[in-house]
Amino acid sequence: MIESLFRPALSRMQPYAPGEQAAPGKTIKLNTNENPYPPAPEVVKAIQEAASGPLNRYPDPVATSFRRAAADALGLPGPEWILAGNGSDEILTILVRGFVGEGQHLRLPYPSYILYRTLADIQGAAWQQTPFENDWKLPAAFGENEDDLRLVLLPNPNSPSGTLVPKNEVASIADSLDCPLIVDEAYVDFANENCLDLVQENERVLVTRTLSKSYGLAGMRFGFLVAQPHVVAELSKIKDSYNCDAISIAAATAAVSSQDWLSDIVAKLNATRGRMETRLTEMGFAVTPSHANFVWCQHPDGNHQSRYEYLKKNQILVRYMSFPDWGDGLRISVGTDDQIDACLMMLERFS
Ligand SMILES: *Cc1c(COP(=O)(O)O)cnc(C)c1O
Repeated sequence: MIESLFRPALSRMQPYAPGEQAAPGKTIKLNTNENPYPPAPEVVKAIQEAASGPLNRYPDPVATSFRRAAADALGLPGPEWILAGNGSDEILTILVRGFVGEGQHLRLPYPSYILYRTLADIQGAAWQQTPFENDWKLPAAFGENEDDLRLVLLPNPNSPSGTLVPKNEVASIADSLDCPLIVDEAYVDFANENCLDLVQENERVLVTRTLSKSYGLAGMRFGFLVAQPHVVAELSKIKDSYNCDAISIAAATAAVSSQDWLSDIVAKLNATRGRMETRLTEMGFAVTPSHANFVWCQHPDGNHQSRYEYLKKNQILVRYMSFPDWGDGLRISVGTDDQIDACLMMLERFS
């Protein structure tokens, strides 16, 4: 029986459950924080050009064109500060493999991104969840050192809350920790502050970014790490030799070079988000002010799961999330104005 031949850590773990993918068609999909708008036209053009390029050849193993363009766009000293990956999920995998050994542990806030636990499980490592305090503040315990603590992960803005820990607080957490602090900035383009300068001040601050959300490229799979050059060099040993393909490198290079497009899309989505927050509040929801492209809301009547099901029956998919010992609620991605109007109208009809 092959079952007994898998590593025990694998047999023990639960698989990560991604958000539902609806059959293409009429469903309004507001459950996985994708961008409702297509990527920049330059990106589509770059993909078309790459598709008629030399696909019989291996791609650039270190995505040089992307790293140059990204260093430029983000104001980093140079491309050696960037490690490109097949989605930021791959970057997170590389980080856990690089820093956390079997039997050691990593720390994450709670509730936050569940994938970190899966990555620890695969590694045969343990995870420790530090609950947020009221109003999504981090307790001092989040920055405390412990034996065998090898990595601390902070999604900032956080999911599902959309809340942002201010940069000065992130800096002091990083300073107090002996291990690296990963700041997962998947949603940071929707916020008004980021932690990139901390990377230049502290070699233990590592920032991850993705093109899946703000750049509208979830289907492409591209993410990256920003870290000091000696950290990037060491972690590069772990990645697959050709972890990003030629088409995604071309797309990602064009995407980070389209910063004007990005500001316009972010402004549009943030305006829609403001409208969502206002109307949901008027409907009686407790709405957490969001710095991301989704809104976390809870209704005092507690009927979150039935609202989710009602919306789904009406072909609107949002994310119902329930966190043991904490509570539940709805996480609704910011869609187009029309999609959000449809969703709000259905929520108003729910009784
Ligand atoms: C969506 C998301 C990512 C994953 O990004 P990919 O680049 O698509 O793998 C990482 N972290 C958080 C917190 C996310 O919500």
